[in-house]
Amino acid sequence: MTSPEKEHTRGDGPAPMRWDRQRTDAVDDTALPGLARLSTLVRSVRTPEFQGVTFHEILAKSALNKVPDDARMLPGEWTLNPYRGCSHACRYCFARPTHTRLALNMAEDFDREIIVKVNIVEVLKGELARKRKLPPRVAFGTNTDVYQRAEGRYRLMPGIIGALTAARVPFSILTKGTLIRQDLPLLVTASAVTTVHLGISVSLPDVEMQQSVEPGTATTRARLDTVRAIREAGLDCTVFLAPVLPGLSDSSAQLEEMVRAVAQAGATGVHWTPLYLASGVKEVFFDWLRIHHPELLDTYTTLYAKGSEVLPDYRKDMRARLFPLLTRYGLPLPDQATDDKFALHGRRGRPEPPRQATLF
Ligand code: SF4
Repeated sequence: MTSPEKEHTRGDGPAPMRWDRQRTDAVDDTALPGLARLSTLVRSVRTPEFQGVTFHEILAKSALNKVPDDARMLPGEWTLNPYRGCSHACRYCFARPTHTRLALNMAEDFDREIIVKVNIVEVLKGELARKRKLPPRVAFGTNTDVYQRAEGRYRLMPGIIGALTAARVPFSILTKGTLIRQDLPLLVTASAVTTVHLGISVSLPDVEMQQSVEPGTATTRARLDTVRAIREAGLDCTVFLAPVLPGLSDSSAQLEEMVRAVAQAGATGVHWTPLYLASGVKEVFFDWLRIHHPELLDTYTTLYAKGSEVLPDYRKDMRARLFPLLTRYGLPLPDQATDDKFALHGRRGRPEPPRQATLF
C-alpha cells in the first residue's frame, strides 16, 4: 500500500514549497540563520492525520539548554524542547516569537510548521554520559508543549524520560496534552528514583471559548480526566489555572466552576496566572479578539496599556476572589514552593538536589 504521507527529502524533484529553502541541499545561511545554525533538516512531511501541519524533521546538535541567568522566564534553569512550534495553537502563546528565529512567522507558522528533533533521545543520552555535572533539574513545557499532537506520531518522550530516569535527573512537565497518559508508567518509574513534578494547564470552563482560543488542545474535560489519571497512578499533579483571560474566563461563577472541577479531579497543587502578552504575541491575540470579542478591545487595551503584563490592580482583584474559593474547595494556596517546582514568574527556583546526581 502506498503511504499517504508526502515527504520531501534530498534528491526529490523540484517542489514549489515555501520550506524548500530549508532543505539540506538548499540551506542558505543568511536567509535561514536559525535553522541553518542549529540543525540539519532531514525532510519535511505532511500526512493526512495532521491536516494543515508540516513536520520538519531535523537532526539536533544539542538537547539540554541552560537558560541564561538574566532571562525573564526560568533564569538559570535547564530545559529541553523536542519540538519547536506547537499545534495546540493557543492564541496567547508566549513562545510564538521563537519561530521568527527560523525565518518562520509567529502566527500560523508557529501552529503549523513544527520542527521535530528526531534524534533528541540519542543526543540527550550522549550529553548525560559526557557531563561531569548533571543539570539539577530539567523543565519541560516551558517553550512548546512536549505532549502536543506531534508526540503521538514521533513518541520522543518515552526515550527522554528513560534517559533522565537512568541518570536520576529531576524534571518537571507542564502540559495541556492528554498524551502524557501514555507515559504514566514511565513517570511512575522515574518518580521512584528522582523528583518528578507534573502540571496540567486548564483554565477555560466554556468549551466553545476553549476551542476558539486554544484550537489545537484537548477539551477542559479531557484535561481534568488527565489530572485524575495522574492521581490514580499515584503521582501528584499541580493544576495551572492559566492563563485567566480578563472578561472571558474570570467571572466569579467561572472561577468557582473551574476550582470545583479541579478539586474534584484531585489536584494536589494549584497555580494561577493572568494572561501575559509577550511582545509580538499581543498582536496575534488582539487579532483573535478583534474577530471573536470586539466588545472587549477597549478593556484589553486598558488592562495591557503598560505592555505585556496586566495592570497590578487586576491581579490583586483576581487573587482576592480566587484564594477564598481555593480554600473553600480544600485546595492549597499557590505559594513560592509551587512556583519553584516549575520555576515560574522569572524568579529563580530552588531546584531540589537530585537523589544521586552521578553519571553511574
Ligand atoms: S500548549 Fe503551550 S506551547 Fe503550545 S501553543 Fe499553547 S501555550 Fe503555546
